[in-house]
Amino acid sequence: MPYIAPMTDRLHIIGGGLAGSEAAWQAANLGVPVTIHEMRPKVGTFAHHTGNLAEMVCSNSFRSDDSEQNAVGLLHWEMRQAGGIIMATADKHRLPAGGALAVDREPFAESVTEAIKAHPLIDVSYEEITELPTSGQWIIATGPLTSDALSSAIAKATGAEALAFFDAIAPIVYADSINMDVAWMQSRYDKGDSEEEQKAYLNCPMDEAQYNAFIDALLAADKAEFREGETAKYFDGCLPIEVMAERGRETLRFGPMKPVGLTNPHQPDVKAHAVVQLRFDNALGTLMNIVGFQTKMKHGAQVEVFKTIPGLEDASFARLGGIHRNSFINSPTLLDDQMRLKSQPNIRFAGQITGVEGYVESAGMGLLAGRLAAAELQGRSLTGPAPETATGALVTHITGGAEAKYFQPMNVNFGLFPPVEGIKGGRKRRVERYKAYTDRAKTLWTDWLDAQV
Ligand SMILES: Cc1cc2nc3c(=O)[nH]c(=O)nc-3n(C[C@H](O)[C@H](O)[C@H](O)COP(=O)(O)OP(=O)(O)OC[C@H]3O[C@@H](n4cnc5c(N)ncnc54)[C@H](O)[C@@H]3O)c2cc1C
Repeated sequence: MPYIAPMTDRLHIIGGGLAGSEAAWQAANLGVPVTIHEMRPKVGTFAHHTGNLAEMVCSNSFRSDDSEQNAVGLLHWEMRQAGGIIMATADKHRLPAGGALAVDREPFAESVTEAIKAHPLIDVSYEEITELPTSGQWIIATGPLTSDALSSAIAKATGAEALAFFDAIAPIVYADSINMDVAWMQSRYDKGDSEEEQKAYLNCPMDEAQYNAFIDALLAADKAEFREGETAKYFDGCLPIEVMAERGRETLRFGPMKPVGLTNPHQPDVKAHAVVQLRFDNALGTLMNIVGFQTKMKHGAQVEVFKTIPGLEDASFARLGGIHRNSFINSPTLLDDQMRLKSQPNIRFAGQITGVEGYVESAGMGLLAGRLAAAELQGRSLTGPAPETATGALVTHITGGAEAKYFQPMNVNFGLFPPVEGIKGGRKRRVERYKAYTDRAKTLWTDWLDAQV
C-alpha cells in the first residue's frame, strides 16, 4: 500500500497540460505528493485530440532555442537548469528546425504522460473539477480552454464578469525601435491631469495615399482561419482591424485610426489623414501596444503590413497579434507575488490562465508555481526568482508589472527585463545588450536554484 499523505500535505493540481505537468514534476521531485486532476479524455476541448498530458494543441514549436540572444531561448535554458520535464522531453523528441526547438508532438506528450504516471509521488485522477476548492493546497492550471463550469466558479470568486472569451491580441512593439523623427507623444486633446497622462500615446501619422495603401494591404493580407469549434464571436469593442476594414474603407479612420485632437510637432501645419496610436504596455516603458490593432492576419503578413506605418518602418515586434478562445484571469489584481489568489491563498494559478502566452511560458509558470507550492507545504520560505531572469521577468509582469486595466496575454521578451546598467538602447548594440541580459539572468537563476538545495 503506497503512503498517502494527509490532505494538507498533498498538492492538488487541476489540469495536466504544459503547466500542470511541469508543476507536478517539480513539486514531486522536491518530495511533495501530488495529484493531477485532468478532465481529458472524459471531457474534451475543441483543440485537444488525445487524453495525453501536456498535449500541444496547435504548432509544434517551442520557438527560438538561442539562450544568448532570445528571451524564450533563455527561458528554455532556465527550465533545463531546473530539471524541467517539459524541456527534457522536448529535447528528447526534437525535430530539425534551424535555431528553433520544434517537437515531435505525439511522442512528446506520450513521454511526458509516461514519466508523470511512473513517478512514485504523482497520481493522475481523470475528472473534471467544477468548483473552486476550499481547503488544501491547489494549483489551477486549466489553460486557455478551462471548462465552462470551472470558468464560472473562478469568475464568481474573482468578481470577473466572464472568463472565457475570444482573445484578440494586438501586436506589441519594442519602444526603442520606433522612429521618433516621425512619431510623437500626445494624448488626444492633451487629455489628462499630468504631463505624463497628456503624453500617454505615441502617434504615427498617415497621409491619404498612405492610408489607402494600408487599407489595401490589410484587405489583401493572408488571414488565419478559425479552427473547428471557434466562431467569429468577438466583442464589438475588439473587432480585428481587417474585419473593420472589410466593413468600409473609412471604418478605421472613424475608429482606432481617427486623426482628431492631435497636432504633429514635426509638421504642425499638416493635418494627418489617419493616425495609428501606441500605448505603453509595461511599467518599464520598453514595450508599446498598437491600440485597437487586434488582428488575425498571419504573422508574416502582420510584419509586412505594420512596417508600412510611418514611424514603424524598422519596428521590432515583441509579440504579434492573434485571436483564439482564451480564458485568463486579471493576474495583476488577483494574484500575489507567490502566484496565490489574494482572496484565497490556498489556491495558486499557473500557465496560460495567468495571462502568459505560449507553451514555453505556460510551462515556465508551472515550474515556478510547483516550486513555490512545494516550499509552502514543506514550511520553507521561498521567494520568486529575480526579475532579471526570464521566469522572474514574466511572473513580475503578470503579478504587478503589467497595467491591470489593459492586461493581455504576454510572451516572454526582453522588454519585460529591467535594463542592464551601462548599456544603452540602440539597434546596433542589440547583440551586446541581449548577451548582457542573458548573462545576468543565468547567474541570478543559478543563484536562485542553488539557494533551494
Ligand atoms: C486554439 C489554440 C491554439 C494555440 N496555439 C498555440 C501555439 O501554436 N503555440 C503556443 O505556444 N501556444 C498556443 N496556444 C496556447 C496554448 O494553449 C498554451 O500555450 C499552452 O497549452 C498552455 O498550457 P497550459 O498548461 O496553461 O494549458 P493546457 O495545455 O491547455 O492545459 C490545461 C489542461 O487543463 C485541463 N482542464 C481544463 N479545465 C479543467 C477542469 N475543469 N478540470 C480538470 N481539467 C481541466 C485541460 O484538459 C488541459 O489538459 C494555443 C491555444 C489555443 C486555444
